[in-house]
Amino acid sequence: MAKTIQAIRGMNDCLPEVSGTWQRVESTLRQVVANYGYQEIRTPIVESTDLFKRSIGEVTDIVEKEMYTFEDRNGDSLTLRPEGTASCVRAGNEHGLLYNQQQRLWYMGPMFRHERPQKGRYRQFHQFGVETYGLEGPDIDVEVILLSARIWKAFGISDQVTLQINSLGSNDARQRYRDALIDYLKVRSAQLDEDSLRRLETNPLRVLDSKNPDVQAAIQDAPSLLDYLDDESQAHFSNLCERLSQAGIQYEVNPRLVRGLDYYNRTVFEWVTESLGAQGTVCAGGRYDGLVEQLGGKATPAVGFAMGMERLVLLLTTLQATGQDNIAADVYVTSLGADAYALEVAESLRDALPSLKVMMHCGGGNFKKQLKRADKSGAAVAVLLGSEEAENKQATVKPLRGEGEQQTVSLANLADVLKAQMD
Ligand code: ATP
Ligand code: MG
Repeated sequence: MAKTIQAIRGMNDCLPEVSGTWQRVESTLRQVVANYGYQEIRTPIVESTDLFKRSIGEVTDIVEKEMYTFEDRNGDSLTLRPEGTASCVRAGNEHGLLYNQQQRLWYMGPMFRHERPQKGRYRQFHQFGVETYGLEGPDIDVEVILLSARIWKAFGISDQVTLQINSLGSNDARQRYRDALIDYLKVRSAQLDEDSLRRLETNPLRVLDSKNPDVQAAIQDAPSLLDYLDDESQAHFSNLCERLSQAGIQYEVNPRLVRGLDYYNRTVFEWVTESLGAQGTVCAGGRYDGLVEQLGGKATPAVGFAMGMERLVLLLTTLQATGQDNIAADVYVTSLGADAYALEVAESLRDALPSLKVMMHCGGGNFKKQLKRADKSGAAVAVLLGSEEAENKQATVKPLRGEGEQQTVSLANLADVLKAQMD
């Protein structure tokens, strides 16, 4: 036998047993963003490597060790996108969508990072994100947070996630904080790991983002960014906090929240859950007022977030019965000696009830065998068609689950009878 070929490690197939849940997640997300007047943007999966180096930052986990970078046949260095924000800004600059304009955008799609695969962490994963441009906030910062909160509400998981927020202030404020942090960390260098020691020199704020418990312990009493904020960022942040409270959003201020990408300033936030183990951040974002200019555009304020869709689907399948999402059929049409009539009935049902899943039995066999298939399909109702039904233009309706009697009805009434059964 030939050797089978397997999927690349950390890159998952989405099988029929969960693809229905994915579809529900995607359509609910689309609905929520439409509800706020956001428009979709689609960008290529492959971009110039420079785009990510210049935006995410050279001294970040993503750029240092997680990117899928390769040379194409022209010798250009290309990278499979590890996130969506950089591409959005690139496209916005390229097509003149940003300067002097207001944009509320969203995207959804696969991202690629060469990380160690584990629950909630994959090498091809999917993000849903929103990005807004041309708005200084904090009103828009509140809006994107409210939008994310509405997503939890739409999935009935508001009680599973908590919001952490922080402000990174201006570049100057971060520079001053950086010096204080270096002084603090230098004294504790014995407790830092190799990565953190290197970052101490290159990008010390990154040390705060370390997942190593020893490093986490060492930064317990590190100076707080919030004590170094410039007056404007301070006002922006307290206004944000006030508006969140007014909107009834509960949050926790986490002065050590810095995020894994370099382009953020002022507002940063994460939604975290305790239901997924170590990979607890389901959504993360913040303000990135400098990025548009950094990538060659005119200075434009921006704020957005990205949500890990695998983690959202994991939350739903962990917490809720999602089997209903993945049922193949609502109605299963069987026939014996009435094949042509069965086709006609199935097609007429699809005309009359486009939202129902109508599956027709193929492959023959007696009614008993066909009803076994009907049961396996998950259908609530089977339609039985024999030569008598064909002759009289009738159909026999057999409920497969719960209460209800088998009954024979005229073809003209069939759609209404089925509709009533499904409600
Ligand atoms: P983490 O701290 O979990 O590594 P991150 O800070 O690298 O996350 P972002 O770049 O902000 O994450 O991405 C936003 C969201 O995308 C994360 O909060 C998470 O839900 C999801 N995400 C990030 N990396 C992965 C991955 N490798 N597999 C699955 N989901 C991911
Ligand atoms: Mg990461």
